[in-house]
Amino acid sequence: MADGVVPSPEAASYTLTLGHLYPELMSTYGDRGNILALARRAAWRGIALQLESIGLGMPVEPARYDLFFFGGGQDREQAVVADDLQAKGPALREAVESGAVLLAICGGYQLLGHEFRTAGGTVLRGIGLLDLWTVAGERRHIGNVIVRCELDGTPRTLVGFENHSGKTYLGAAARPLGYVEVGAGNNGEDGTEGAVYRDAYGCYLHGSLLPKNPWFADHLLRRALQRRYGPAASLTPLDDTLEEQAHQAVLARVRAVGRAAVGVR
Ligand code: GLN
Repeated sequence: MADGVVPSPEAASYTLTLGHLYPELMSTYGDRGNILALARRAAWRGIALQLESIGLGMPVEPARYDLFFFGGGQDREQAVVADDLQAKGPALREAVESGAVLLAICGGYQLLGHEFRTAGGTVLRGIGLLDLWTVAGERRHIGNVIVRCELDGTPRTLVGFENHSGKTYLGAAARPLGYVEVGAGNNGEDGTEGAVYRDAYGCYLHGSLLPKNPWFADHLLRRALQRRYGPAASLTPLDDTLEEQAHQAVLARVRAVGRAAVGVR
């Protein structure tokens, strides 16, 4: 997918390995663009990002991966991967406990929790990597989202697009990724959006998330790099003038238009 932007491991100063969970089944609304953004921002700094698909029935070697990505999917796809994910749960938890970075969106995010109770009453078991649970709500939350967060002490914004009926509630061991300025977020009730445990991050933001929020892409890359190569490993700054302008334009538009024009059902 990212051929041509990823330097070969021999030519690169650093190499990171990303495991993409269920790429065929769990990748809606541009989720794959997150991996492209990571690969390109790594490549611009001479960092090779090796991409590996982790599909149904495939084991996960915890120490092999620096990052994982788990995209969104509707209830049908979630039901297909939920059982298989149980077998991968211990390895994924071990990887996260040892500092691996994980980003999960929407359907993937829900399955990292304890369970997802669908509208039909089926309970899809999650792997409890994040202390949260999800129940299908009566309405779908659809529209642009602005989230305020402060991951490393600096106040920042995330912009994205949500489309989910699941309502997610956090337990004590998960902290929110941020708080919604616009949008429903985790459940439309408590103002939270997403969850963080160690360097595992889950959220409802599709769209793709990382090209619109380059600071977050770099946060994930930096954490993965430092975990693999030590705290002195740093990311060369990039000229993000255009990306920053795009981010600011989305912020201004969503703040001005709100969700009325994009609709909330
Ligand atoms: N089952 C989910 C929901 O609607 C998944 C949505 C998604 O990944 N887009 O809540």
